[in-house]
Amino acid sequence: MRYYSLNKQAPAVDFQTATIAGQAPDGGLYFPERIPKFSPNLLHNLSTMPRAEVAFEVIRPYVGNTIPEDVLQKICAETVDFEFPLVPVTERIAALELFHGPTLAFKDVGARFMSRCLGYFSRQQKEPVTVLVATSGDTGGAVADGFLGVEGVEVVILYPSGKVSPLQELQLTTLGQNITALEVRGNFDDCQRLVKQAFLDPHIAAHRQLTSANSINVARWLPQQFYYCYALQQWTQKSPPVVAVPSGNFGNICAGLLAHASGLPIGHFVAACNANSAVADYLRTGTFSARTAVVTLSNAMDVGNPSNFGRILELFGQSHSGVSQLVSGAIISDQQTKETIRRVHQATGYLLDPHGAVAFKALEDYLADHPTDQGIFLETAHPVKFPEVVEPVIGRMVPVPEAVQGLLSRTKHSILLEPEYAALQEFLLR
Ligand SMILES: *Cc1c(COP(=O)(O)O)cnc(C)c1O
Repeated sequence: MRYYSLNKQAPAVDFQTATIAGQAPDGGLYFPERIPKFSPNLLHNLSTMPRAEVAFEVIRPYVGNTIPEDVLQKICAETVDFEFPLVPVTERIAALELFHGPTLAFKDVGARFMSRCLGYFSRQQKEPVTVLVATSGDTGGAVADGFLGVEGVEVVILYPSGKVSPLQELQLTTLGQNITALEVRGNFDDCQRLVKQAFLDPHIAAHRQLTSANSINVARWLPQQFYYCYALQQWTQKSPPVVAVPSGNFGNICAGLLAHASGLPIGHFVAACNANSAVADYLRTGTFSARTAVVTLSNAMDVGNPSNFGRILELFGQSHSGVSQLVSGAIISDQQTKETIRRVHQATGYLLDPHGAVAFKALEDYLADHPTDQGIFLETAHPVKFPEVVEPVIGRMVPVPEAVQGLLSRTKHSILLEPEYAALQEFLLR
């Protein structure tokens, strides 16, 4: 499989080169040259196939011969060695829980897969690779955990001081080894600006091989197709589900659309957005305009100019009618998010996180207009990651799961950084 740049000004490359580079040299996102069809074996035997085997079948054509089969099998097995349960919440709505990984957010799958691929590739590289990433919370923890101890890879994470939750900060700052956390005196936009500047800086390029670990990177984006397969594995209804995806950078839903294009039976997609509604507006009107991000309760979705939107358009041959037939947009306010968390908890006992709540509400509204359909929403993070939102709404504490209790006693290590490029440059050239 080869990948071309959506800007069309750079040569096509294989999976290895696309993974190491992150973004194409012309600044475009890499996109697969063709969309492989899932095998009849996969589609017919999905419900009984082991998770790791599903992952391997789905990803193998994308990886091509850049990773030997036995190594890729091992990578897949390690990537998905936790549960992805489909939990009924109401008669017509089930939650696909994607938060049973080590950092309690769905980004674990992409981060674990990418880190292991990069670890394999870096064995053949002379120079170590530096993963540089800005985080508003969840990405950093998943990337830190996924890359911990991977030889030949150094990880540098920028996060906004005082603007991530305490649990998220501990996930970023307590691991040590090859993981460094830079605590930026600024906001997430500052972090992202510094990272973007570093990627364009020839002095840095002469000094180290930089790569990104957000969903721009094909090795983080593509394995998200697994979720949709695991949802279908557990789906017992006759007609295909409507799937609602809480969306920020639109990497996750774009992977779902890819799986659909490969033959996975999904009836319809709902792109669930908070007030950052550029794509939802596009789906309704056919006109796209990027915005500056506004702050909401579902902060991992606070993206004004989603980077994977270009991939979605490419998948549908730039056709607005093509996309909007399969995908509806929904815009859910903070007020509705809180109201949904409270109402669902009261009525069913199920505790949503703010991102899952946006998707639940968007799905509920869609199903109200489509009375014969049933659906699944992706619950992308554990509610304990957002206690400041969830606890006042339900009027009680959220117990900390065992998986992260150990974090609470660990010591934070971060390097304070002024929000100026010179400071980051000095750190990277040290
Ligand atoms: C990153 C994230 C999202 C948004 O996913 P995209 O792929 O960027 O659309 C949703 N929910 C949570 C909890 C996240 O961390």
